[in-house]
Amino acid sequence: SSGRSTGLNNADNPEGPDAKNLRVKLVLLGDSGVGKSCIVLRFVRGQFDPTSKVTVGASFLSQTIALQDSTTVKFEIWDTAGQERYAALAPLYYRGAGVAVIVYDITSPESFTKAQYWVKELQKHGSPGIVMALVGNKADLQEKREVPVQDGIDYAEKNGMFFIETSAKTADNINQLFEEIAKRLPRPSPS
Ligand code: GDP
Repeated sequence: SSGRSTGLNNADNPEGPDAKNLRVKLVLLGDSGVGKSCIVLRFVRGQFDPTSKVTVGASFLSQTIALQDSTTVKFEIWDTAGQERYAALAPLYYRGAGVAVIVYDITSPESFTKAQYWVKELQKHGSPGIVMALVGNKADLQEKREVPVQDGIDYAEKNGMFFIETSAKTADNINQLFEEIAKRLPRPSPS
């Protein structure tokens, strides 16, 4: 494999490639502790359970959603499994990803700075056409907020990214995050 694919792959559909059933690798990036695992568990299992970590290693969780135009999108979601500590391994992790979700914690300016590092990294080394979303998580902690919502909006706009604030704890905007990503995926042209 070239490692520079668009990240969008529906070739294994038993009924043949099909513009209505998409499959895409999604990676989460961001500082440790910002809530990446909790976002995935909230989306896939509908629960908030900080004690249950997403499976580490080579496996991933997947979740399929249907859009209003009857397109389905199967997300293959890779958690960093702690690899955020080893920047040199990151390219192996996001190779072939069609979607990158870059997460920070709205109570942590350091995590917002780190998110910007990951955006630059993906702009340099990510798949061409990768869909990037910037996520300010822990939006339920308004009284501890240290990153103004406008900072997230401005940074995302400058970098052509989708932006949303979420709470894995209350489930606020979690489904919306994945729906908005799904809508932004490039569609294979009908042949
Ligand atoms: P990861 O290292 O980025 O995967 O972070 P985790 O998903 O393990 O979450 C780290 C900690 O943040 C856990 O103790 C969670 O309870 C907490 N956490 C995650 N999401 C939220 C959220 O939306 N709101 C609040 N208040 N806490 C959260």
